[in-house]
Amino acid sequence: MASKYSQLKIFHFQDKVDSLPKEVQEVKAPLHIRIKPTNVCNHNCWYCAYKVDNLQLGQDMVEKDFIPEAKMMEIIDDCIEMGVKAITFSGGGEPFVYQYMLQTAKKLANSPIAFASLTNGANLKGEVAEIFAKHAKWVRVSMDGWDDESYAQYRGTSKNAFSKVLQNMRDFKAYGGACALGVSFIIDQKNYQHVYEFIKLIKSTGANSIKLSGCVVDNEGAKNNAYHQPIYDEVKAQAKRAKAELEDASFEIYDTYHLLEDKFDKDYTWCPYSQVLPVIGADLNIYPCQDKAYNLENGLVGSIKEKRFKEFWFEDKSKFFKINPKIHCKNHCVSNHKNQMILDYLSVDNDHLGFV
Ligand code: SF4
Repeated sequence: MASKYSQLKIFHFQDKVDSLPKEVQEVKAPLHIRIKPTNVCNHNCWYCAYKVDNLQLGQDMVEKDFIPEAKMMEIIDDCIEMGVKAITFSGGGEPFVYQYMLQTAKKLANSPIAFASLTNGANLKGEVAEIFAKHAKWVRVSMDGWDDESYAQYRGTSKNAFSKVLQNMRDFKAYGGACALGVSFIIDQKNYQHVYEFIKLIKSTGANSIKLSGCVVDNEGAKNNAYHQPIYDEVKAQAKRAKAELEDASFEIYDTYHLLEDKFDKDYTWCPYSQVLPVIGADLNIYPCQDKAYNLENGLVGSIKEKRFKEFWFEDKSKFFKINPKIHCKNHCVSNHKNQMILDYLSVDNDHLGFV
């Protein structure tokens, strides 16, 4: 089966990798952009990284912010012109609460840009869902509760919200189209005993994949590990059983549940991925990644409030080097391993290249 999740995709874009260092004059367009269209959300998850006080992520988020319709259209026009390959919508808030998502999806459906969205699934219905089903590459629904009661407790929703999301997922697959529908199961100390049964339930909706991830509960790797250590073996055992019994050509189980320490420590001083996969926030600020979004103190690349995205991106390359991961990114970093691979690749002594 071809892998959707390879960490090595970036190396299919060698000219982009070669353009990343400060000494290289040229700035190339980002390959992939995360857009946070709105910070408004219709759920209230206890662990939401954008809302809890003890995580640096989201510390400066303004909940009522959203991207005006005209600005969103301008951003997409710029992305088309720049040759951006892919756009993913994510939170801050819930992308399908964004009042201009239908127009946005229609515009992208008529563009060469591949697009996708993270969602809680509550509003994944109607015309906008049909456009995603028929034209997007993937949609991934974040979940945590394993039935109506637990889901309502996790998210502060009505008591049948879980069943409604499952129905939205079945309806989504019934639209036809090639969009891959996935679920991200966020594992914590309350739901870890339900991993296997939950995967089985999700497979029954017709979803194409499930991703298992650990809930991030602290800025420090050691504290996250201490939280997950008591449940680690049980989660791994259930994931292994599910892979053996439930995975097949139509349903992929992607187990990224692991102890988190390696996502925190960084000994490098500039961030390659900030030029590869930046974030456009609902506040029209540009952030280097999803782990530094709405952190104005040490996660801000700049603003496109007063200028077009394409102008901002190509001017003054030094803006990508203001953030020093060794100093500013002691937090969880989803791109840590990919950054390390790129820096290793770029550090090779050309005189010795032949000695492979
Ligand atoms: S090192 Fe990681 S956390 Fe820091 S800016 Fe880069 S991608 Fe974000």
